Amino acid sequence: MVKKFQNFVGGRWVDAESGQTFENRNPANWGECIGLFPKSGRGDVDRAVEAARKAFESWRLVPPPKRGDILKNVGDLMVARKEDLARQMTREMGKVLAETRGDVQEGIDTAYYASGEGRRLFGRTAPSELPDKFNMAIRVPIGVAGIVTPWNFPMAIPTWKIFPALLCGNTVVFKPASDTPATAAALVEILMEAGVPEGVVNLVHGGGGEVGTAITGHPDIDLVSFTGSTAVGRKIAEASGATLKRVSLELGGKNAQIVMNDADLDLALEGVLWGAFGTTGQRCTATSRLILQEGVHDTFLGMLIARVKKLKLGDGLDDGVDVGPCVNEGQQKTVHGYVGVGLEQGAELAAGGRIPRDGDLARGWFYEPTVFTGVRPEHRIAREEIFGPVLSVLRVHTLDEAVAVLNDTVYGLSSSIYTKNTNDAFRAIRDIKAGITYINAPTIGAEAHMPFGGVKQTGNGHREGGWTVYDFFSEWKTVYIDYSGGFQRAQIDNYRS
Ligand code: NAD
Repeated sequence: MVKKFQNFVGGRWVDAESGQTFENRNPANWGECIGLFPKSGRGDVDRAVEAARKAFESWRLVPPPKRGDILKNVGDLMVARKEDLARQMTREMGKVLAETRGDVQEGIDTAYYASGEGRRLFGRTAPSELPDKFNMAIRVPIGVAGIVTPWNFPMAIPTWKIFPALLCGNTVVFKPASDTPATAAALVEILMEAGVPEGVVNLVHGGGGEVGTAITGHPDIDLVSFTGSTAVGRKIAEASGATLKRVSLELGGKNAQIVMNDADLDLALEGVLWGAFGTTGQRCTATSRLILQEGVHDTFLGMLIARVKKLKLGDGLDDGVDVGPCVNEGQQKTVHGYVGVGLEQGAELAAGGRIPRDGDLARGWFYEPTVFTGVRPEHRIAREEIFGPVLSVLRVHTLDEAVAVLNDTVYGLSSSIYTKNTNDAFRAIRDIKAGITYINAPTIGAEAHMPFGGVKQTGNGHREGGWTVYDFFSEWKTVYIDYSGGFQRAQIDNYRS
């Protein structure tokens, strides 16, 4: 019997207005159906927004430390259910269990950070230019937040958005990716059990074209936090012009790791394997390009290919598996299409490049870990986000050339350089155009209490994570209190000449 899931609106589990459903299947074994989910539309979003708007009037008055207490409960429940959540997530989107455990842990870290923020949420005071007057700026809630998320971090990314949104006193309408709706449902159950009042968090399942657009264009939604592709982000930015709502966009990447001649090659090798093939390369921060200085090019490539050929593909729930499947058939086709493009444009295939057709692997959307050598900066596989287990290797002569090649992309999310030379490391930090730079560590591995986000077409300048996300989910209100008992005019009465 396939489990049937529902939306969560105004504190009740309900079907979509249409009564229709969609299936969610295990990408490692597409014969296994995880559940049926409501295929929602605009009317379902309207009801969720109405519930969130009503709940906002009481939630905004709950003192932030009390909101923080609820988020502490959320973190505790996630700790208790970590293993179950991780297993369900692996079944749903394929990445290996160690990584889905990490995904849940990121949510736990975010919950505890948000809980502590309940007793900070600092404002500022500044002296007034006039006598007997007090100036301060305080953070106030904004209203209803629309949260639209991708499938590659089905727990971590929603928590990065929903927890600070709630802590700041906003209410939420949440649309998860249709490849990972069960993880979203489990998160909402936890929020309710932890004590989030009815209507404060609403969950609407469905497609981006219907539910996503209904949320991002909704006149009664005050702010939108979106993570996903640059193509969709661009549409949301255009649409948000009509209502001038506040929008945070976390989009694509084309991240690179540089390995200099003086690098610790063993360390750099572990870094690139994890960066390029972790989450089957389906991370916004995945290492998609490897930039090798010529002195280590051949040696490092030899080490890399030997290890890539040993990576074990399989069901992420099985012990010893290094790389899980692509999330769905479309993603597998996209990856294979890019391999064709790489070959056509003259890059050389040094490993992988095939859809496995044998045994258990034939039942899922697997793709062999793939390495292209002889890639030039103008090749499409060096420029476009592939979002799969494909690594493009480029050869450079100097640090300046390495940084120029790394920067030669419309994206700017994560970056990495392996070197023992402190001067080169600091020059790279100065010159690399990216939101995140790692020294002697791979392009992946963000920590929940640090700002996360990118430059250029990776986003629109906001940062998730850490203290910075609280700027997005709260509004500054400036307050002037005149206790002089007289009429005082700023700028004018102080400076009469
Ligand atoms: P996607 O853009 O296809 O979908 C993301 C979400 O948007 C989904 O919930 C989807 O249903 C919804 N959506 C689709 N069309 C929409 C529309 N027109 N209006 C509103 N919502 C719509 O992305 P994806 O395939 O789920 O995720 C992969 C992409 O996400 C990659 O480009 C990756 O780099 C990016 N990503 C970025 C970050 C980051 O923090 N920068 C993190 C993870 C993933």
